[in-house]
Amino acid sequence: MLKKISYLIIISILSLISISGNKANATANVTNHKIVIDAGHGGIDPGSDQCSGLYESTANLQIATLLKDLLEANGATVYMTRETDIYLTNRERYTIANATDGEILVSIHLNGSLDHSLNYTQGLFAKWQKDMTLASVLHEQLASDLGIQDGGLLQFASGVILKANMPATIQEAVFISNTDECIALKADSGFRQQEIANSLYNGIDDWFSQSYPPVSPGKKGK
Ligand SMILES: [Zn+2]
Repeated sequence: MLKKISYLIIISILSLISISGNKANATANVTNHKIVIDAGHGGIDPGSDQCSGLYESTANLQIATLLKDLLEANGATVYMTRETDIYLTNRERYTIANATDGEILVSIHLNGSLDHSLNYTQGLFAKWQKDMTLASVLHEQLASDLGIQDGGLLQFASGVILKANMPATIQEAVFISNTDECIALKADSGFRQQEIANSLYNGIDDWFSQSYPPVSPGKKGK
């Protein structure tokens, strides 16, 4: 009996933790907002191949799908540039994004290096005025959640985020080439992908909770 009670208490605590971790509640700031998610690489372009048995393109799509589920569960509309393992050019990606009424674009990548000890999280932006604040808000959340080094922000004039009409960012969440990250990302539970998706979700929710100036096309707002 005592055992049963403590078991129930543990279950209740676990449910509380999972609810607060995912912010799956009625007060989400993302509700009724529209988000474009771009899973980096795909098809003939695997991205980093420095984690044996798991391409970056596959892990990117796993994270993107978990993030989509979280956003939709909280009342947001999500547009995905790809939902399967297909190849898209940068031009195809921003053309898809610009054809939607998406308010922001989040491109998900994992970094790669031949140095398997390297690991940090980094946020990329193309245009200062359009993209920098979004990149910063999402990056700060990843840097505080993922338990790895903060690689800061980097200006990167890539077609996907540069040519997207809305505030856009590439988040290089972790190094898939890092020995520990590679093991974590290949775990059957998918817990590392979920941690990254949760953190991106919380960053996006934070973005929509505040009036971050300045945003050029005037598309962002509550
Ligand atoms: Zn990549």
